[in-house]
Amino acid sequence: DSGRKPLLSLRNINMTFGGVRALKDVGFDVLPGEVHCLAGENGSGKSTLIKIITGVYRPQDGAVIEFDGQTYSHMSPVTAQNAGIQVIWQDLALFPEMTVAENIAFQTLLGRRPRFVNYSSMRKTAEKALARLGVTLDVDRPLKDYPIAQRQIVAIARALVGEARLVFMDEPTASLTQSETDHLLDIVRTLSASGVAVVFVSHRLAEVLEISSRLTVLRDGALVGVYSTGGMTQSRITELMTGKTFDQT
Ligand code: ADP
Ligand code: MG
Repeated sequence: DSGRKPLLSLRNINMTFGGVRALKDVGFDVLPGEVHCLAGENGSGKSTLIKIITGVYRPQDGAVIEFDGQTYSHMSPVTAQNAGIQVIWQDLALFPEMTVAENIAFQTLLGRRPRFVNYSSMRKTAEKALARLGVTLDVDRPLKDYPIAQRQIVAIARALVGEARLVFMDEPTASLTQSETDHLLDIVRTLSASGVAVVFVSHRLAEVLEISSRLTVLRDGALVGVYSTGGMTQSRITELMTGKTFDQT
């Protein structure tokens, strides 16, 4: 791994909300195609960091965001999307009344060929993206017919149609059952194997250890460190997240 050039490289990321420092000089790298977990207690700055990289928030001056050979001082949502950075939010920004095909393909096809979007091309694009994830859904059904776990898969398929190179997932398993979680983790592995890097935020440490090759820990908005998950334990991650040591008996 040490020879691989990072896809994303962050340095000096600072963010203040009304005098509260939500992020303090955070920096780390994400390698192409890796699954990289972001761990930290509630309020440690995980979502804020994602919002900076995806262009929702503007960091303080001095930030360096290197992505795919380009250097940025901040992102906008359009810049991030065009560069291949996509995010699957907890409250998915999807359209329940529209069909699965429309949810997956409409936005991207509209951006590319504004005058020629028709339903059959959306359908084909959507089915291809779902097939890449190893999933079959009836793309003609409205999204509202499907539960949250499938909607998440639809959001991931949409990210693929948008030519994602890096996908952020913010607590994607929070409202999933165990079997839905297992399925989502399979899909994350498929994404990663196809060369798409995934930054995965989760409170569930068993899941973190299962899915990721590396782990970045934040505490109170500051970087604790970046670790390989090989040989890491749940109690060690908890120690890193809280700064407290626990009896290992
Ligand atoms: P996490 O996702 O790790 O739980 P967040 O990034 O949501 O943490 O929050 C980090 C800190 O920034 C918290 O103290 C939170 O209250 C604060 N914060 C986040 N977003 C805002 C906002 N829009 N306005 C004010 N404070 C915020
Ligand atoms: Mg959060």
